[in-house]
Amino acid sequence: MHTYARSRAAFVRGQGALLFDADGKSWIDTLGGLAVNALGHAHPRLVAAIAEQAGALIHTSNLYRQPLGEQVALRLSRLSGMHAAFFANSGSEANETALKIARKYQQQQGRSERIAFIALEQSFHGRTTGAVAVTHNPKYREPFGPLIGPVHFVPPNDVAALRKAFDCGPAALILEPIQGEGGLTTLDEAFLTCARELCDGTDTVLIHDEVQCGSGRTGRFLASQWSAAQPDLVTLAKPLAGGLPMSVVLANAKFEGVLVPGDHGSTFGGGPLASRAALVFLEELEEGLLDTVQARGAQLAQGIDELVAKHPVVVERRGRGLIQGLKLERGAAALATECFATGLVVGTAGGEVVRLLPPYVITEQQLSTAFEILDAALTKIQAQ
Ligand code: PLP
Repeated sequence: MHTYARSRAAFVRGQGALLFDADGKSWIDTLGGLAVNALGHAHPRLVAAIAEQAGALIHTSNLYRQPLGEQVALRLSRLSGMHAAFFANSGSEANETALKIARKYQQQQGRSERIAFIALEQSFHGRTTGAVAVTHNPKYREPFGPLIGPVHFVPPNDVAALRKAFDCGPAALILEPIQGEGGLTTLDEAFLTCARELCDGTDTVLIHDEVQCGSGRTGRFLASQWSAAQPDLVTLAKPLAGGLPMSVVLANAKFEGVLVPGDHGSTFGGGPLASRAALVFLEELEEGLLDTVQARGAQLAQGIDELVAKHPVVVERRGRGLIQGLKLERGAAALATECFATGLVVGTAGGEVVRLLPPYVITEQQLSTAFEILDAALTKIQAQ
């Protein structure tokens, strides 16, 4: 089906933060498979673990214990401070699960009328019918209605609008601490703290969607860990199993017991192959990769600041760590096309933001080269 406006380019091989086509032409990859390839391409430890696990056991079902999934859950708990994990396969599914937990929780409390959700303008939570209902862009929602709801959308960082939205008696508030598809808008501390206070005051479930900004991408395991306001549920996906499909909903102690046997499930979720890959990713994070993300993130920030200072078309830097971007006056797509032609893969978000989500293993030298390409591409498109 024609669901993607794909580029004609095709990569056949990768190595670290480099991608190659069939003719051997190479690109520096600062898109990372849309925030997935945190360990880069062909990471030797990941490749060996996947090969070994494939030879031992790929899948068993969730009718039996999943020892590898249990190990992943324990590591996630240690890294996040959360208490329980439900594994699925995509970000959409994880968000879907979080919305179901919120509705069930309100029912359990005898408040079955509390079915509404609050979400943010510019949000993106996925494409399944629940996740898309809380996704702001009408183009993604309207062809598929009626969706679950009601959903009240609030402008990001607008505390007064958020307060007002709570009049609807919501089941949950869902937000991305850094909006990925929504142009890398970063929620400020006042907004995050107000969200936590309003949820506490009304017994509303606070869901942080960290599918794109979590799993170490900001230099801490959760983007929420830069804030004093902690979520009740947090969803992770993208890089969690190094490129194999895996997502998770992590719950704090209050919400860990809401779902009971039979309430929810997933055939593949938390299975042996993805779990083995996830263990490699989480071990790498704990063995120093988070520090590397902070160092490369600082380099990314400095590089973007220099572009802001030099090129009038670059309005500001957005994001944090290895989820940062350039807000342009116009022409994000043109810049991405020019970068691609000169050996650099970048992403866009909306019409005006160029988004950089490099593998955590990108080298200092590769990132410097990426900035040389961006600088030249900006000079060229501004001259046109
Ligand atoms: N949530 C956020 C913040 C995302 O960025 C995405 C995907 O880009 C999703 C959810 C949906 O994830 P998936 O495509 O794995 O279903």
